[in-house]
Amino acid sequence: MGEELNLQDFEKLLDFQEILDKIARKDDEHNHAKLEGKYSPTELSGCIRNSWYNRIYPEPYDAQAYRAFLMGNILHELFQKNLDYPDRYKTFKDHPILEGIKWVESEKSYMYMLPFEKTNGNRIVISGRLDSILYLKDRNDPIIVDYKTAKTIKYNMNAPKDTHVMQLNFYLGCALATYGILVYIDKTNLEIIQHTIQYSQSIFDKMVQYAINLDDCIRKNKVPECSVQQMKKHGYCAYCKHKDKCAEYEMGIKNEMPKL
Ligand code: SF4
Repeated sequence: MGEELNLQDFEKLLDFQEILDKIARKDDEHNHAKLEGKYSPTELSGCIRNSWYNRIYPEPYDAQAYRAFLMGNILHELFQKNLDYPDRYKTFKDHPILEGIKWVESEKSYMYMLPFEKTNGNRIVISGRLDSILYLKDRNDPIIVDYKTAKTIKYNMNAPKDTHVMQLNFYLGCALATYGILVYIDKTNLEIIQHTIQYSQSIFDKMVQYAINLDDCIRKNKVPECSVQQMKKHGYCAYCKHKDKCAEYEMGIKNEMPKL
């Protein structure tokens, strides 16, 4: 009898769902802290109004979201670890990858401070951490790798998402790289689709302008203008948490418009 009670106590202590959720939270809580004037490349792509709502009405992440971050981190680390020395020599014996890669850097942080003349003297920083940089033996410029885990990768079969291209392009700019690879990993079956992206100065400039506009709207507490039709066409509205607020705002504009 006494033994059964002890076992039950153990079960309470060793609640593995709770343990997993704590592990997920521990690693990721500080990564998602938001600072005024500091924006991640993820916030600076897609619908600007959505990014604004996320800043003005922040919602805490739930356990499900932290589990998704953890799953992503596990899969990223799997590649990072096995591509790097010394695991590379164990994993890829007699494989050309051994000769091709000089060295690998992972989880490298980059910060880009926008020039004051563009920001009206305000401090605006774009800051993020890239997944992997591969230095190849026959190239001077590095190759940047960005892993994206998804429930399904079928939508990325033919082309990568614009938002992901924009995010990777930021790292290409900061690392003075010409090429990067977006690696989509299907969480359910570990299938992979990859796309090579070439650096674009105009996409980098677009992100800088996005940061300036978003920062300005946050400072002035005004909802950013955007074309809802265009956002819908890009598929941003389907899973937007702020649909109701956005529809209310649009309705307000319509009602204010002078009748012809
Ligand atoms: S509903 Fe669409 S347009 Fe409105 S904030 Fe969300 S993504 Fe943007």
